[in-house]
Amino acid sequence: MKIITKQLSQEIKQLLSDSKKITIIGHYAPDGDAVGSSLALYNLFKKYSYDISVVMPSFLPDYLKMLPASDKIIVYSKEDKKAETLLSISDTIICVDFNSTKRVGKLEKALLNSKAVKIMLDHHPEPENFVDYIISNTEASSASEIIYEFIVIIGMNNLIDKTIATCLYTGIMTDTINFSVNSSRKRTFDIVGNLLELGIDKDKIYSQIFNNYSADRMRLAGYVLNKKMKILYEHNTAYIILNKKELMEYNYKNGDHEGFVNFPLSIKEINVTHIFIEKDDYIKTSSRSTSNFDVNKFARKYFNGGGHKKASGGKLFININEVENYILNAIKNID
Ligand code: 5GP
Ligand code: MN
Repeated sequence: MKIITKQLSQEIKQLLSDSKKITIIGHYAPDGDAVGSSLALYNLFKKYSYDISVVMPSFLPDYLKMLPASDKIIVYSKEDKKAETLLSISDTIICVDFNSTKRVGKLEKALLNSKAVKIMLDHHPEPENFVDYIISNTEASSASEIIYEFIVIIGMNNLIDKTIATCLYTGIMTDTINFSVNSSRKRTFDIVGNLLELGIDKDKIYSQIFNNYSADRMRLAGYVLNKKMKILYEHNTAYIILNKKELMEYNYKNGDHEGFVNFPLSIKEINVTHIFIEKDDYIKTSSRSTSNFDVNKFARKYFNGGGHKKASGGKLFININEVENYILNAIKNID
């Protein structure tokens, strides 16, 4: 695995221009960063007339469909054969915003079996060794910030236009929850400054993402705050468990719970939160921390997942009725 640096820029450029087919792949349940970083690269390489595709393991949320070229994304859960074929015929595969093959769900085999040269552009800790080239910086706000650095290294930054900048800004803004976390480095703001110079409409992007909820989602949020938020002051922790029946009562659409996990962090003395959402064949977990408590380690140990020190996710394969006991035991175990 070679680390992509300025010295390697010629090698990478050659690799890209020799590639007859390039595929970019993001993670399962793609978020603003996965979609923003993928589409930034897609829109950039299109300018060079590269034969390039973007594949996602599952559907992107509606609020990201305003991103330029989002309609070009091949979604595995809709077009499984096409997605698999793209990975197998590609000369180069660029993996963005994930570092573990488990994160691509049912595309894992196709990704591992592909003979393509693989490049990872990411910001999660402890990358797995399944790629040929890597840029990974856990200090970076987002994969989108890494993509920006990658574009600089390969000397294409003069090709970043408003369209590409919009994609990159979306990734940085969403992963930092509008610059409230993971965004204390000057470099992040220097990059944002450069994107602003390209004419992005930052307030419009914010509104399209954060002021675009359905009334059902807002009512579900009310229910969650009123009835479902459990607080354990002695552990500075809160948790929320939502079963399918409750979700259906509020016409739950994929992604409607986005942001709920952060709600309890506004409470004095609460600095660790978990949410559990019942899906068809597993329970989706999300955890957040504003203290030194490492939710990446916690998710790896208890939720078959991972992520960052302050934001992690995972999956549980137990009955939703067992979740409360499970989390209470897990929390007791750590103290
Ligand atoms: P979220 O809670 O928003 O789904 O995810 C928070 C962070 O944890 C993200 O950085 C995401 O990439 C990571 N993450 C979410 N789900 C999983 C998972 O199932 N496995 C691993 N390893 N990381 C996850
Ligand atoms: Mn990210």
